[in-house]
Amino acid sequence: MSSPELTELERLRLTPGHIERVVVLTGAGISAESGIPTFRAVDGYWSRYRPEDLATPEAFAQNPQVVWEWYLARRHTIAQADPNAGHYALVEMDKLLSGQFTLITQNVDGLHQRAGSHDLFELHGNIFINRCSLCSRRFSDEVLNFQELPPVCPSCRGAIRPDVVWFGENLNISTVEDAFTRAREATLFLSIGTSSVVHPAATLPIVAAENGAFLIEVNPELTPISEGADLSLRAPASRVLPRITEMIRTILTSTASKKLS
Ligand SMILES: [Zn+2]
Repeated sequence: MSSPELTELERLRLTPGHIERVVVLTGAGISAESGIPTFRAVDGYWSRYRPEDLATPEAFAQNPQVVWEWYLARRHTIAQADPNAGHYALVEMDKLLSGQFTLITQNVDGLHQRAGSHDLFELHGNIFINRCSLCSRRFSDEVLNFQELPPVCPSCRGAIRPDVVWFGENLNISTVEDAFTRAREATLFLSIGTSSVVHPAATLPIVAAENGAFLIEVNPELTPISEGADLSLRAPASRVLPRITEMIRTILTSTASKKLS
């Protein structure tokens, strides 16, 4: 982290009021630090396809085998990556703030869960979960046969697809509504590694700030919300999040000791 960013972060004075309800939104940036290429940064064999031509219901209807091969290649890349200090700091933050912490992610890679997070909102689904395109039942890999693609639903014989949101598809409405409710109630909102251009996720930090949340953005590049944020850091999440977690720990420790004295 460059020193101006570090100085800015160290000047941050969070209060007990700030950490009453903390909501964190993560995007591709936090996983990029784990070496997972962004959606568009595919190379080799797959560079001949545009992701927009593979991640659609139409592509799956026309050529489910190619779509699955692409997703299996992406799964393979993700499986080789590990969660980083940013993911782990959020697990710790969740433990410290038990019950007053919400994690919302746009990522489908499951790295938050592998780090130890649970009960998170996955706005765009999860690449490691399989769903029947007909009956919508979800299945683990173990009960499916991947020798022939697409795998077939054990229940209704429909084509199995990855449980992710494709171009032209709607997000799960109740997940989105719950995420917005949490954002409106937030006292502190962290927008981490997201370009803030894909809606509705990009609206979450704005709604939070409008309803009084203190808004911190952490992203290597400027985004549409940078100017309106209370603090916007051009820095890696793996450096900033552990520091914010420590700040929260300090607040809680000092509040607890005040209660005792
Ligand atoms: Zn089915």
